[in-house]
Amino acid sequence: MSAAGLDHQLERELDGLRDAGLLRHMRRVEGRPGPRMLVDGRDCLMLASSNYLDFAGDPRVVDAAAAAAEEFGTAAAGSRLINGNLMLHESLEEELAAFAGFDSSLVFSTGYMANLGVLTALCGPDDLIVSDELNHASIIDACRLSGASTRVFRHNDPEHLAEVLEGADPRRRTVLVLDGVFSMDGDVAPLRDLIPIARDHDAVVVLDDAHGLGILGPTGRGTAELQGVEVDVAIGNLGKALGSFGAFVACSQTLRDFLVNTARSFIFTCAVAPPALGAAREALRLIELEPHRRQALLDRACELRDGLTMVGYDIGTSTSHIVPAIVGDNDRAINLAAATFEHGIYAQGIRYPSVPRGSARIRLTPSCAHTAADIARVVEVLTEFSETPSPNGLTEHS
Ligand code: PMP
Repeated sequence: MSAAGLDHQLERELDGLRDAGLLRHMRRVEGRPGPRMLVDGRDCLMLASSNYLDFAGDPRVVDAAAAAAEEFGTAAAGSRLINGNLMLHESLEEELAAFAGFDSSLVFSTGYMANLGVLTALCGPDDLIVSDELNHASIIDACRLSGASTRVFRHNDPEHLAEVLEGADPRRRTVLVLDGVFSMDGDVAPLRDLIPIARDHDAVVVLDDAHGLGILGPTGRGTAELQGVEVDVAIGNLGKALGSFGAFVACSQTLRDFLVNTARSFIFTCAVAPPALGAAREALRLIELEPHRRQALLDRACELRDGLTMVGYDIGTSTSHIVPAIVGDNDRAINLAAATFEHGIYAQGIRYPSVPRGSARIRLTPSCAHTAADIARVVEVLTEFSETPSPNGLTEHS
């Protein structure tokens, strides 16, 4: 097929997505990350970012990235196992392990790759992975790629987890994999209920705490700390609360050695670059020194959840700093995102396949740098577009 023929075919497929209300496009964001940013040229309150603790634009974190570039250059210029293993990787890994409360840790180039690496290293056709139905796409892809038999249990449902595990054939290894904070719903895995069931079935517990680490729990260690439980493997992200780029797996020294030798998404890729490592190290230092950031984020999130609920939005089961306003219909979600954008609020409309069909939403993620007045403004704008029950029982758009 010629390139023109291919384009013609792809245009028809894109038309199909457009007709289904599923076509996506990228908005252009300018300026340093912060609570307000220019989005497609419009000054907006930024409610679509994972820069939860506002470190991505923090002058100290930016300076640390610049200092790392100055000293070590802009690239690791190769994979960790060849020429790319820098002192910065090893120092950051020691600090991350100490932060997360594990013996060891290993930095991966992205969270997506960390999930692929861990699950494909631990599991193959002789193994069983048990996975929450709303786990992140990278976990779903990792399960598929591993070749393990995968059984999916109903979201956050301990009884169904037990049922799924009871019905399973004995395997070499069983792994329970969970998101800590579910990225589209903002609810938290009930680890206290789920982990004992995993233990009863001798399953290894892997927690992807991309959104919880650095934020939840008395000292910000994440979802497991929040619930006072321990997991076997924790995956954290450098690109969210830590304002940098990349991810890490916190685990035993043995599992680290095993991943270095077997995780293909670790072995066959370029190591994280020095500026990202420098930024992550500084943000990690600041997280310990500035717990008020975490508290401010949780306060803003609470105001947002309460405000949206009061004006009639369905925020689902969110209890965290990820707050969906679920409207159901794709077009309504996209129109709502567009209307709020016109009013200077940038929150992303989310549709299938990021969420199940019929549960389209806009997804709002405040940062600690937003003020209570910012959140009040977000609620005020969304109130204007809420579907309020009319006196005759019908719904109407105000
Ligand atoms: N896990 C979860 C729960 C996520 O939300 C994300 C990204 N949004 C990832 C993994 C992937 O992380 P990264 O963006 O670093 O690839």
